[in-house]
Amino acid sequence: MDEILHLRDLTLKDKRVIMRVDFNVPIDELGQVRDNTRIQASLPSINYVLEQGASLILMSHMGRPKGQPVKSLSLEVCARELEKLIKQPVALAPDCVGSAVEQMAHSLKAGQILLLENLRFYPAETDPDKDPTFASSLASLADYYVNEAFSASHRKHSSITEITKYFSGKSAAGFLLEKEIDYLGARLKNPKRPFYALLGGAKVSSKIGVLESLSHKVDALFIGGAMAYTFLKAQGSSIGDSLYEENQLTTAQRILSHCQSQNIPLFLPIDTVTTSDISSASNIQTFSAQDGIPEGSQGVDIGPKTVDIWIHELKKAGTILWNGPFGVFEVDPFSKGTNAIAQALGDIKAETIVGGGDSIAALKATQADRYITHISTGGGACIEYIQFGQLPGIEHLSKRAKSVKARSNTTQNFG
Ligand code: AMP
Repeated sequence: MDEILHLRDLTLKDKRVIMRVDFNVPIDELGQVRDNTRIQASLPSINYVLEQGASLILMSHMGRPKGQPVKSLSLEVCARELEKLIKQPVALAPDCVGSAVEQMAHSLKAGQILLLENLRFYPAETDPDKDPTFASSLASLADYYVNEAFSASHRKHSSITEITKYFSGKSAAGFLLEKEIDYLGARLKNPKRPFYALLGGAKVSSKIGVLESLSHKVDALFIGGAMAYTFLKAQGSSIGDSLYEENQLTTAQRILSHCQSQNIPLFLPIDTVTTSDISSASNIQTFSAQDGIPEGSQGVDIGPKTVDIWIHELKKAGTILWNGPFGVFEVDPFSKGTNAIAQALGDIKAETIVGGGDSIAALKATQADRYITHISTGGGACIEYIQFGQLPGIEHLSKRAKSVKARSNTTQNFG
């Protein structure tokens, strides 16, 4: 694969940069940013552009306004949050395209920032064919394009792929995107062995692609969450009223046989915590997979024996990839398995790579997040990148010229 252009490769002095960021942050009942992790994550690239003497136009989506302006989804709140973080004014444009925006963008001075209004107020953001002039209008605002929104890079949206058409040789990856590519791409292609993958969550169907692709790369697979019951049922175990997918039973069988024929250990829960009702958490019991789960009970967490065995095995790993909770971890009594594994990952010496909002929430709840090698900012993007080894938003960026490669190889990498 050709190497893509990086932010550090651009000569930015007195130029205007348009940067796609992901400011789709959670907002609380008072209309304030509840968690500014995503804004914080773009700060190194934002500060770098400003320090280089360029002016910066930021663009992002927030929520799903379905192609029309929605007041509660204005990026005003993000402009104020960013101002606090970088301690300088951030102007919010009244729109993301149009003459008023052009005027504001063109009058920016070096070191100044303009944040455009929510891109998804226009239907052409998510569906570029609806209006190709949307991307060209965004592009007309700047000299360079930088993609810093890894979490949206699996989408063929105007601000992610279409816009790059107008920046031939001038569209680059921001630091955050570069870091995701390094951990999820380069390092997972050649991981420190043994390489173990842990997958949880609700549905086999949503992770089947990555599961199959990982089954050809890993030294062991660990499957928990509701996904595990499709596999247990495929093996003939009774799973009571646990969630499973009838139409994925043959897929589960195929993965089980592949792992068996290739001598890849596939760890399923050997015991399961069950309830007769998730919302009231009533009648909590633990059953071994061997005995099976009786009718009227539903598996909602991996059991303590599974936790012990998995942690024992995980200590042998060189690299661990984790995506998805191992139970209904939002309900306190059923979070024990997920939290115990999250905490163990913080203590394990291996390179640990974690993606998906639920897994990250469990890491934060157990304060293990600071010990994880790489926490991906992408959910769907993280899964698709691992599965395909490429994403539209990365593929469309400019390629590095040989002279740039040679120059940058002599400079130090960022931390
Ligand atoms: P996903 O988006 O596929 O990663 O799924 C995450 C969801 O899976 C979370 O909301 C969990 O509550 C749910 N989940 C995990 N384990 C189970 C289970 N055993 N039964 C029902 N839901 C589960």
